[in-house]
Amino acid sequence: MRGMPVDIEAVRRDFPILARQVHGKRLVYLDNAATTQKPAAVIEALDRYYRNYNANVHRSVHKLAEEATLAYESARQEVARFLNAARPEEVVFTSGTTEALNLVAYAWGRANVRAGDAIVYTDIEHHSNLVPWQLLAEAVGAEIRVVEVDPEAGLDLDRLEAVLDERVRLVTLPHISNVLGLELPVAEVARRAHQVGAVVVVDAAQSAPQQPIDVQALGCDFLALSGHKLYGPTGIGVLWGRYELLAAMPPFLGGGEMIRRVGLTRSTFADPPARFEAGTPKIAGAIGLGAAVEYLEGLGMDRVAAHDRALAAQAHEALLEVPGVTVYGPPPDRRAGLVAFSLDDIHAHDLASLVDTEGVAIRAGHHCCMPLHDRLGVPATARASFAVYNGPDDIEALVRAVHAARKVFNR
Ligand code: PLP
Repeated sequence: MRGMPVDIEAVRRDFPILARQVHGKRLVYLDNAATTQKPAAVIEALDRYYRNYNANVHRSVHKLAEEATLAYESARQEVARFLNAARPEEVVFTSGTTEALNLVAYAWGRANVRAGDAIVYTDIEHHSNLVPWQLLAEAVGAEIRVVEVDPEAGLDLDRLEAVLDERVRLVTLPHISNVLGLELPVAEVARRAHQVGAVVVVDAAQSAPQQPIDVQALGCDFLALSGHKLYGPTGIGVLWGRYELLAAMPPFLGGGEMIRRVGLTRSTFADPPARFEAGTPKIAGAIGLGAAVEYLEGLGMDRVAAHDRALAAQAHEALLEVPGVTVYGPPPDRRAGLVAFSLDDIHAHDLASLVDTEGVAIRAGHHCCMPLHDRLGVPATARASFAVYNGPDDIEALVRAVHAARKVFNR
């Protein structure tokens, strides 16, 4: 497939799962915003760890433990480089975006947000960036202020300004919406939030797999991502935090390895990142994530971004040609790598099930964004989301499958 920023044929050979068939058809996997498939480099890194040097980290002095610790800490360095973090100690391994956001809400939030303070977020958040703040606000008596985002035009910074004052302790937002494929202007939001002394938390679950992330250029204070959406294993994620903030935060979970000294009635705690990695960490997951990041760097994140966006723009335009289709979000030229849509009054689940019989995997539902779907006035949408192994042939397969579904419903 010439003309695409990524050599799709070569990339497809790196992903063993793409050799399988679904319902007798070639697998067309377009559910990448839910989770991506894994390249052989990641599967082999996990296999090597379990076959050759499986051991706990930071504890024992034997050879296997030394190798496992080295691989685990090298993965932290890889991720730090991937995010352009100032130092590897700013990278805390979590189980995913959800845990990373909860970590900030509990550890930073309960130490820094008081009754009468305000928390700001948008109306397009994933539930994992809504519920932890609602729990925090309820626990401490803080106020929640919601900034409306126009699904097509994006975030109007004047609307943000309208809710910012010295009572705002925290502003949080998604870098890319998992429903709209809309990118929000994080750097500008951070600049304005900092003027009132607020801390800025970025949900990068969808942006980290799709475009280069530079936490220093973004100017945010915390950023969360999930390994499984980044071509890595499930059960691993990252909280990146500015070191001074992490160092001033109390722990989230208590247990082994996060301590400096434990007494029977009081304990003191290790420096970050250990302070936030209680118990045996996700060793295999971190090693797998390190391999995923290395794989993506080999492709080049600029190229990955251009590739995913080109496909999403093509899909947006092609779907609009299908009678009865509504596409949600910004126009094709401003769209990140996913497209949510509906077809007449057909329920998205029925549509996705029919599309699946053609071997095309898409997602249907509210995508953990109920308030946004309320705003869009639909209970559910279908969503096609793109990754490095997708090509124009996958979009053709999707559009063919949507046409076939129309026929089934006599449209
Ligand atoms: N934020 C966004 C924008 C997402 O798309 C997702 C996952 O779909 C999450 C947060 C939660 O990620 P996880 O379930 O991996 O913790």
